[in-house]
Amino acid sequence: MSSPVAVVTGGNRGIGFEVCAQIGAAGHRVILTSRERDAGEEAVHSLRARGVDAESLTLDVCDEASVRAFGDSLAAEHDAIDVLVNNAGIALDGFDAAIAERTIATNFFGPLRVYDALVPLLRPRKGRVVMVSSGMGDRSCLGSERRERFLAPMSRDELVQTMRDFVTAVGAGRHEREGWPSSAYRISKIGLNKLVEVLAPEAPGPINAVCPGWVRTRMGGAHAPRTPEQGARTITWLAVEAGDGPTGGFFRDEAPAEW
Ligand code: NAP
Repeated sequence: MSSPVAVVTGGNRGIGFEVCAQIGAAGHRVILTSRERDAGEEAVHSLRARGVDAESLTLDVCDEASVRAFGDSLAAEHDAIDVLVNNAGIALDGFDAAIAERTIATNFFGPLRVYDALVPLLRPRKGRVVMVSSGMGDRSCLGSERRERFLAPMSRDELVQTMRDFVTAVGAGRHEREGWPSSAYRISKIGLNKLVEVLAPEAPGPINAVCPGWVRTRMGGAHAPRTPEQGARTITWLAVEAGDGPTGGFFRDEAPAEW
């Protein structure tokens, strides 16, 4: 029997790299993605030194052609994918329309694009998806009417339009009046938390979002309390250990959490 296959986006460094190491140690073949080929190869080298069966493919989650080529490469090599960890993400300094656009494009539309490209390959009834989200994706930062809308059921089309509306509202200088905070990162992760709820009924297997905590990476900085190993824990747990039960939820420290 061949090993189960796991795909981890942004696996060349930070939390994603540790997720690759942990999922690999659990016996999966790991396909990590990296924007830069050399960075991906370097990560594969380190993982192999730790006994992990790993390979690297280039991927920019914001680039439609890159995602399509990535999906085609996977389909050519693998009958099915057992795990998809959508980990790649950005947290930019500052706040304006361009930052809002880029943040939502990377942290919300990126994972959705990768999910759509890989869903035909996910193992029927079993393929697991983990979206790496954040405690910053908490609905409490929204105005009350906006929060009610995020508490109510939404269709995929409504959620996608709502994310676009946020970017438009920032550009028009009316986002605060419309109940949005001045943080594109928060909205991208609120969108991701809602996305797992929206996709759960149609996904082939469990799909969940995770807050890794505040982690010492290039994004989290040197003063963050958690190591990348600790940050990767709940992601690995949902990806390869948790029973078949939970889906459409938000998790922290291996337990469901409010958002
Ligand atoms: P990191 O060290 O900055 O790593 C981010 C990864 O995402 C890198 O591999 C980066 O690739 C990749 N990436 C960025 N934009 C991409 C794109 N357009 N296409 C493909 N890959 C892209 O960050 P991290 O701390 O490990 O964060 C990983 C995830 O955890 C993110 O989703 C983040 O929001 C979430 N998170 C982190 C913390 C924390 O405290 N660190 C807390 C909560 C949530 P390059 O190397 O090419 O730039």
